[in-house]
Parts: sequence; C-alpha cells; structure tokens
Amino acid sequence: MDKATRQLVRQRADNRCEYCQLHQSNEAALPFHLDHVIAIKHRGSDDMENLALACGVCNRAKGTDIAGIDPDSGGLTRLFNPRTDLWADHFFRDGPLILGKTTIGRATVWVLQMNVEQRVELRTLLLKLGEL
Ligand SMILES: [Zn+2]
Repeated sequence: MDKATRQLVRQRADNRCEYCQLHQSNEAALPFHLDHVIAIKHRGSDDMENLALACGVCNRAKGTDIAGIDPDSGGLTRLFNPRTDLWADHFFRDGPLILGKTTIGRATVWVLQMNVEQRVELRTLLLKLGEL
C-alpha cells in the first residue's frame, strides 16, 4: 500500500479508529493500522472502499474475521463495515463502554473485544479528561 493511500485513509477517518472511535492522539505510541474490511483471503481488495483505519487492539482482534455471533441472539452475523454502515446506527456508548444496538453491533463489539479491561480503563480516563 502506498503512502498516499495510507494518508487518505487516515484523513478520511479523521485519525480515529473506525471501529472503537479511539483517536490516534490518545494512543500516540502505537500507530493505527490500515484494516482490510473484507480480508484479502475473503477476496477483499486494496481499494479505498475496502480500507479502514483501526487501532491495534481492534485490528488484532478482528484479524481476517468478517462475521461473528451476536451474544444476545446467538445468530451468525456479518461484522460492522465502516465503509457502508454508520457507527451510530450500530453502537452507542454507555460511559466508558461501547455497546451494540444491532446484531451487527453486538457481534462486532464481541469479536473486536471493544470492552476489554485496558480499553475501558483508557476510555474512563479520557472521559475524566473530557477527551471523549
Ligand atoms: Zn479500535
């Protein structure tokens, strides 16, 4: 992936993880990754329309996954797609927690481990600092 594409993806995302919404400035030591929304192994492309900015935690947890199990219904569902879905349609914040509004949101929160202790602690701190 060329530098220009990386810059465009970062700019489009306003330097926020497109899954958990963490801003790059709140994790300056760990540069965010370019995520293939649909992994190459599932025939995803390197096109801008298949790329998203993701923090290291979301990117590692997502890996090449494209689907998950909704913890409420137990049903198989696709993951959130930052290119075609609106964040607020699928997620909401309850204090430092990110919760799913939909099957897609709940499965994505679960697969991407959005509420692991270190992330909740970070969001709690950011809330106290007024940065979230
Ligand atoms: Zn993230």
